[in-house]
Amino acid sequence: MANERSGIVYLVGAGPGDPELITLKGIKALKEADVVLYDHLANPALLDYCRDEAEKIFVGKYKGNHTLPQEKINELLLEHTSNGETVVRLKGGDPSIFGRGGEELMALANLGYEVRVVPGVTSALGVAATTGLPLTHRDYASGVVFLTGHKKKDGDYSAFSRINLKENTLVVYMGLTVFDDIYRELQKAYGFKPSLGALVVENATLPNERRFTTEVSKLGGVLKEEGVSSPALIIVGKIVDFLAHI
Ligand code: SAH
Repeated sequence: MANERSGIVYLVGAGPGDPELITLKGIKALKEADVVLYDHLANPALLDYCRDEAEKIFVGKYKGNHTLPQEKINELLLEHTSNGETVVRLKGGDPSIFGRGGEELMALANLGYEVRVVPGVTSALGVAATTGLPLTHRDYASGVVFLTGHKKKDGDYSAFSRINLKENTLVVYMGLTVFDDIYRELQKAYGFKPSLGALVVENATLPNERRFTTEVSKLGGVLKEEGVSSPALIIVGKIVDFLAHI
């Protein structure tokens, strides 16, 4: 169990990029923090809310260039929390969506530390806002599915074959480099129309946002031709046709 002097950890969602998309609760936690551990997807402008004396530690991760292994991040969180400090773990989007927030929460909670989660606007919602694309719509999609292209077990995309793409919107996080494999899985499972709509949005909600709308069969080519790079979200489904009507 934690001792009485142990601090608090706030797992804070920074939102998708635009610094105005953080919550008031998130800002409050940043103002209170003695230490902030932040990711590369959290907008660094948010650190301006911190006190000058607050320690700011970059623990960002890039694909293929892991600045700090997850265990090291957990250790850092533990070290500062057990010193009685107020720690903010600032993560892009929402901490509970593909952000390993759960792993960090478990590591701390199992040792008896107090963890408070402050939700954030996940990037799929950021994309919906800047493009005008509704993720659900009575005429196009009765549900939405968030999936990751980055699996612990490489190459296992079987989850993709269990989605009903006729009725649901598919949002793929971290899918850029593996989209060809995902497409193959989707085609095998559904043999769906290659003309099904696909949208990719790079740097959503930021001034340098780029978006490309195409057909799912052509998306792989578009990603290469346009040099789309991370962070980018891929959306597949009938809902993409909606964009032609606004
Ligand atoms: N917790 C985050 C997701 C972390 S996984 C969230 O809730 O959004 C990282 C992936 O999120 C990226 O590879 C990309 O697919 C997506 N992503 C995060 N920020 C993004 C942005 N500004 N624009 C497009 N995609 C983004």
